[in-house]
Amino acid sequence: MRVLVLTGAGVSAESGIPTFRGNDGYWRNLDPTKLATPEAFARDPQLVWDWYRERRQRIRNARPNAAHEAIARLARWTDEFLLVTQNVDDLHARAGVAAEKMVQIHGDIFVTRCSHCELCRCDYKHEHEYEHEHEHELGIPTCSKCGAFMRPGVVWFGEQLPRNELERVEDFFDGGACDVVIVAGTTATFGYIIDWAVRGSRGGGQLIEVNPEETPLSGFATRLVREPAAIALPRIADELIKCG
Ligand SMILES: [Zn+2]
Repeated sequence: MRVLVLTGAGVSAESGIPTFRGNDGYWRNLDPTKLATPEAFARDPQLVWDWYRERRQRIRNARPNAAHEAIARLARWTDEFLLVTQNVDDLHARAGVAAEKMVQIHGDIFVTRCSHCELCRCDYKHEHEYEHEHEHELGIPTCSKCGAFMRPGVVWFGEQLPRNELERVEDFFDGGACDVVIVAGTTATFGYIIDWAVRGSRGGGQLIEVNPEETPLSGFATRLVREPAAIALPRIADELIKCG
């Protein structure tokens, strides 16, 4: 069985991570879609870092939900599996999806990378951030190699998707058609989500959309599940594992 799963913010929202869209996404009355941009960072890097640090803390305090766990179960059970997530949090990883079976197409919020050179580091652990306490006073970390501002290792609006991660998705498609493609918790507003879902299921595989609401992908799906991911995915995972 060959399975592709695509996930978006809706899956993490069920763990209490606010989505960018909607009222709960607002922070200090600011619209996150305007903070997560290269322009916002150029204008006010301190403000952008304050927001990302709060998000990091919120993610550390959150727990994977039943949707994350169901996907991790599928990842362990299927012969060939890839999860492509738009989420920059680590909830899929904490649920147990191995790094080699997962592509974070919008980056990783716990990575801090230089805005100028190639230097990057992982700031996952609390302890590690304390080591950089001097930076907290300044508010904006700087690169130890070139001195430029460091930035969160995420893809901002208007930026290109990371090439090496795109190649990993392509490699998975090169490996053959999927039996099942599941798209959960994403509004599929980005064209590549629809492209990948349709390409993955092209050989006659199922295309299952899990979303309480209609999305631009709905017309392509072979099965629509209008439920929250944490309700629907455990059941879908059970069905697939039983059938397989
Ligand atoms: Zn640098």
